[in-house]
Amino acid sequence: MVASVQPARSLDLPPGNPHPTAMASGTLHIDLAALTANYRALAAKSAAPAAAVVKADGYGLGSTLVAQTLAKAGCETFFVATAEEGATIRPALGPSATINVFSGHMEGDTELLRDHALTPMLNSPEQIARHQNALPNHAYGLQLDTGMSRLGLSPQDWPAARAHADDATLIMSHLACADDPPHSQNAQQLANFHAMTDGLSTPKSLAATGGTLLGPDYHFDMIRPGVGLYGGFPFTDAQPVVRLSLPVIQIREIPAGTAVGYSATYVADSPRKIATLSAGYADGLIRAMSSKATLWHGDTPCPLVGRVSMDLLTIDVTDCAEPPHALDILGPHQTVDQLAEAAGTIGYEILTSLGPRYTRVPTP
Ligand SMILES: *Cc1c(COP(=O)(O)O)cnc(C)c1O
Repeated sequence: MVASVQPARSLDLPPGNPHPTAMASGTLHIDLAALTANYRALAAKSAAPAAAVVKADGYGLGSTLVAQTLAKAGCETFFVATAEEGATIRPALGPSATINVFSGHMEGDTELLRDHALTPMLNSPEQIARHQNALPNHAYGLQLDTGMSRLGLSPQDWPAARAHADDATLIMSHLACADDPPHSQNAQQLANFHAMTDGLSTPKSLAATGGTLLGPDYHFDMIRPGVGLYGGFPFTDAQPVVRLSLPVIQIREIPAGTAVGYSATYVADSPRKIATLSAGYADGLIRAMSSKATLWHGDTPCPLVGRVSMDLLTIDVTDCAEPPHALDILGPHQTVDQLAEAAGTIGYEILTSLGPRYTRVPTP
């Protein structure tokens, strides 16, 4: 077992100690049982096999750890954004897993795709030509644009590109509005996907987390959830996967009228105890959380006061029964989506911003 909290440090440092001891910026506890449970729960919603999206370093949690854990849970297909991300997870997965690359076959990708047996999802006539020229016998998929106008072959490209459909391992598209079930674009994109692919025997995939929850019409031959695996919206039944615990560097008592942090945006209206924590916007705790987020000491809520600094947070711990050694910003009292809401963003951004300075501690 790895200790979850830094060793106890002196909490009676004189206020204003200019040399706080250097220490880790925090501990990111990753509940692998919850990750596995979320994968199984999403997989159980479909008769089709469930792949896993592990791009952006496994949504900030560590792509190798996540991919290995989900492979043990029976996952055989993984999606990443770039060939480099695929190369990163290949050693942990061994040769039998399929690793699909959303960005397709970009200039400069050929060696990575070949050496790590990655399957590019080709997005344009140019990518198809590049792939045919560079790696003529190497597996590929095709991505279609059914209405998001982001990646994929357009309906105009498709009549010519369709000749490559039979040899593809997968034909996929992505929904723009799946986290909003009544949105009319869901049915529209579904109809477009059918119109472009009906009659082809190549396996098809349309659903990410949101599409998985829209129901079997959207599932085709493979679902490919991402955020729901990690405990995020729109999979509201997900188990929380992360707890982020931040160490206290020092605690000071301030009288009424004292300002806290950059630009003195917070001024205490009564005597307060202020804890300074080792983490900040450089660790993904974005500046928009200033004076908005809440941290937790057990069951006690502790408001973030003043501006978020690059490496530091200032937290009002007046209500804590004893001086805390660490506070949680993600955990049982606050999900990634609740923290995102406080900061005016989405859970995806909170997760994928979790910085490299945290110690990632998996719990089985
Ligand atoms: C990111 C992504 C996914 C996973 O989406 P979630 O909303 O995180 O489930 C699936 N497909 C594509 C094309 C993506 O870009």
